[in-house]
Amino acid sequence: MKLNGFKKIIGVLRCNSGLHIGGSAEQIEIGGVDLPIIKHPVTGEPYIPGSSLKGKMRCQLEKKEGKFGLNKKKEPTEPCKCGEPDCLVCKIFGSHQNTGHNLGSTRIIVRDSCLSVATKEEYSHLLEEKGLSFIEKKTENIINRKSGAAEHPRSLERIPAGAEFDIEIVLQEYEGDNISDMIEFVKEGLRLVQQTYLGGFGSRGSGNVSFHELQLDGTPFIL
Ligand SMILES: [Zn+2]
Repeated sequence: MKLNGFKKIIGVLRCNSGLHIGGSAEQIEIGGVDLPIIKHPVTGEPYIPGSSLKGKMRCQLEKKEGKFGLNKKKEPTEPCKCGEPDCLVCKIFGSHQNTGHNLGSTRIIVRDSCLSVATKEEYSHLLEEKGLSFIEKKTENIINRKSGAAEHPRSLERIPAGAEFDIEIVLQEYEGDNISDMIEFVKEGLRLVQQTYLGGFGSRGSGNVSFHELQLDGTPFIL
């Protein structure tokens, strides 16, 4: 299968509400919050793993297309693994655990997104001049249905609203690919992320994000 080239989408992801993308258990510090966010191991800065954005786009596109994989009980709970030539989910995002397909490589590469230069500057100002942490600590409770009292408080970290990240998505174009259909599919995936949420606790307000200043190979890319 011949690789004809690449298409690159760059732009800005803006957090319109706090964003929670969970860190791994190893990152949980003693006496820290219950639900930390993922951070760069050296700088401590939050970032958005490419797998989070890719996974959310895929999941929403699967819902829209009605494409799911079946689990052992034949329930539609898994990522699509049909491997059919006309399935853009499998072609672009990879055919989940299906090694028998002829679709070739996964076409999409979603890079990890780092804080934009502007957001970093704003945050270092907050840190140095005001001693403020730029990671929001939020406490959530469960309301006891009988007494109405808030119980079981747990603390979660969020990237605060207003933070911006630089995103980069690459599409690999192989011989025979309909690249304009693939670009439209990715565009729809980004729209669906905007319409829903990214990361955890979306039904409770977290993860409202929007995309700005998008470019496809240097030309404006309008969602
Ligand atoms: Zn499929």
